[in-house]
Amino acid sequence: MPNLDTIEYANRITCIDTHYQRPGLAACYLVESEGEAVFIDTGTSHSVPHLLDLLEAKGIAPSQVKYVIPTHVHLDHAGGSGELMRRLPHASLVIHPYGAKHMIDPSKLIAGATAVYGEAEFEKQFGRLVPVDETRVIEAPDQTCIRFGERELLILDTPGHARHHFCVYDAESQAFFTGDTFGLSYREFDNENGQFIMPPTTPTQFDPETWLATLRKLTAFSPQRIYLTHYGEIGNPLEMANKLSQGIEDFAAIARASSAAPGPQRVAEIRARLNAWMMQGLEAHGCRLEAETIDELMSMDLTLDAQGLDAWLTRLEQA
Ligand SMILES: [Zn+2]
Repeated sequence: MPNLDTIEYANRITCIDTHYQRPGLAACYLVESEGEAVFIDTGTSHSVPHLLDLLEAKGIAPSQVKYVIPTHVHLDHAGGSGELMRRLPHASLVIHPYGAKHMIDPSKLIAGATAVYGEAEFEKQFGRLVPVDETRVIEAPDQTCIRFGERELLILDTPGHARHHFCVYDAESQAFFTGDTFGLSYREFDNENGQFIMPPTTPTQFDPETWLATLRKLTAFSPQRIYLTHYGEIGNPLEMANKLSQGIEDFAAIARASSAAPGPQRVAEIRARLNAWMMQGLEAHGCRLEAETIDELMSMDLTLDAQGLDAWLTRLEQA
């Protein structure tokens, strides 16, 4: 098979780099069973040709893809859904009930992201958002069962990172596909001490208490593996869940300790403290990367995390 930036895991699970921002930043997954397949997350519209190339290389016809399953409607996960659905004639889109309307009419997603990135940068990062025909959308509340081939996926409602977020449990591999709910853990930080993990507190629905409860809900399944969007496979879920829970508590405490006024000043203060938290954590992890390299890998995440924490504090203050 040509190099398509993919990793073949056990149990017919393929991790696909979605070419978002840089290699190794964002993935989506193809899961196969008995002549049928599903995509979990999609990347952006720019990722879609790459996903179709992979199908072709594997000898899977577009008509054999039964479901497209974005974990939530943030654009690095679901931005390519409409374009992908247009190319998969028999697929249905499975989406959290709170996210469905944004897939059918993406105008709010476009407006929100354009406000953050500007029009030119939006186009560059995400391309065109294509609406999904309402008749092809399946709203999946907690405990929805999705069947394809001989495989069964269980959808679990998992708020905390976002209210429109679910995770997907695959009984065959005893693994969860977790989008952003199980944190982010870049492979560049792997070393003899294992993997480094932290919570993405991206705007605007961070909710620490709910998120901690969600992690307990996931670990109750005693999963063997976790498949992250950012990035790839995590092999020791219980230990990583503890680390991530600590990270969520630390991020909330860092935000609460801020004395700056809401807005850019507070974002800057929180960002500086998150950076210090991360550098300390990476040192304890035995990370030997240069500070400059770490900054290149994490700069965008830290900014988004600080913005999300500022938005959370603002919500608390207004309540
Ligand atoms: Zn994400």
